[in-house]
Amino acid sequence: MESQSNDVDEKAQIKDLSGCVKKILPALEKFNLFEGQDEAVLNKDKWKAILDKPLPQKGEGVDCVIEELNNVIIPNGLRNGAPGFSGWITTAPTVAGATAGLASMVAGSQRVWDTSFNFLETLGLSWLKELLGIPSQWQGIFVSGGSVANIIGLAAARQSAFEKIGIDPAKDGLPGDKQWKIYASREAHHVILRAVGVLGLGRKNVVSISVCENQKINLDELRKTLKEDKKQGIIPIAIVASAGTVNTGVVDPINDMADIAEEYNTWLHVDGAYGLFGKLDPQVSHLYKGFERANSAAVDPHKWLAAPVGCGAAFVCDRNLLGRALTLEPAEYLEGSIGQGEHRSPFDTFGDQYHEFGVAQSAPSRGVMVWAILKEIGAQGMRDRVSRHNSYARHISMRIQQKDRLEQVGCVELSICCFRYVSPGLDETALDELNEAIAEKLREESLYVPSTTRVNGKLVIRPCFINSRTTIKEVDGLIDKVCSLGKNLLK
Ligand SMILES: *Cc1c(COP(=O)(O)O)cnc(C)c1O
Repeated sequence: MESQSNDVDEKAQIKDLSGCVKKILPALEKFNLFEGQDEAVLNKDKWKAILDKPLPQKGEGVDCVIEELNNVIIPNGLRNGAPGFSGWITTAPTVAGATAGLASMVAGSQRVWDTSFNFLETLGLSWLKELLGIPSQWQGIFVSGGSVANIIGLAAARQSAFEKIGIDPAKDGLPGDKQWKIYASREAHHVILRAVGVLGLGRKNVVSISVCENQKINLDELRKTLKEDKKQGIIPIAIVASAGTVNTGVVDPINDMADIAEEYNTWLHVDGAYGLFGKLDPQVSHLYKGFERANSAAVDPHKWLAAPVGCGAAFVCDRNLLGRALTLEPAEYLEGSIGQGEHRSPFDTFGDQYHEFGVAQSAPSRGVMVWAILKEIGAQGMRDRVSRHNSYARHISMRIQQKDRLEQVGCVELSICCFRYVSPGLDETALDELNEAIAEKLREESLYVPSTTRVNGKLVIRPCFINSRTTIKEVDGLIDKVCSLGKNLLK
């Protein structure tokens, strides 16, 4: 028999998986050590030149793939899981989640059918609900991240608002003779605007409410705007609360916003992609008062829970409404493959049908990663992590008070503390430049990598702690380094 052309030999592939994984493990382990110089790190021109090749007409085989993974790709990845990295709100996954992710890619490559992986979608969501105090009757769905989770929450809000006036927006589209608005603070994440755009509601219809000195939504302005809009017959689609803003990590007054949402008969969506896990710290759990009165929430296991990136979750209070917002008309070929009567094999039966509640039909199994992480460390492990990270931000705040050259900007609620280096006689522009230069030097010559942002117009250094590998040593190290850099730069 003629041998198969250039395609993979599937039997060998399956047998080879462990061999392949073994071959890339040393590179992955080295990548994760985060210390010293890794001689495999190349400058960008070099690794790009190696990788940037035309489409191969003839396959080069899996060994060539492994070789480039080892020598070029893995070493030149992003070490944002390093203990001193506190820049964004993503980190490298922990081992249990990464291992479950690999298992999911191979054995759970489609979450629809009635398999262990489908079961863990449901179990993972219900563990998250229990962990975070999300009402048990809410419908959850795993999605690719906070961006999509916010689309899901606001899709339900859109459905709810228009159904109240007898319109089915999913079916009939949006009415041309009506006006509507979505209300969120200036500090809300940009993906809210995009979600509104994607849903056809129009970015211009997001009202950006100002924030108070503490960076939380200005409730008076919110009430006033809603009142005036109501007089003009504008439909309020949703109020969006941030439970942990990405700039300063403060939690909007959810309970007051729930009162307002009730008064105006509208939807309350909570964007907790980063900060809903903050609830687990008993010192700040009171900030989430009224959360269960909301109608939907977004949360990102790929942030504080350190699941592999690509793991977010949306929760909506009304399962049927969500189904109407995102229904997937039955497809013959799928329905046709479902056996009648008793269950004989996983191919005969759908598991829980998540494709009715999201925007993807084919989707990876993500619940298994959440399951793995929570099974490994338990609710208590997560409570400890969140409490520890929040205490790091408070620790920075305390150290700042002891240094006259450091100034805290904004308040500390969760695991972010914004601050800047100051020096008498420097004006605001000079201070901005100085702190920008400090941040640049940190990236260049230290293992401490926070980000910068602007708070009340001031450029500040912004460490955000969600990385399980970070210890108090890196927290103190960052402060010491900022002080010494500031001093040197001023010379
Ligand atoms: C990260 C984040 C998002 C965006 O989520 P992705 O997972 O990056 O798509 C939205 N809102 C908040 C509050 C976030 O922290």
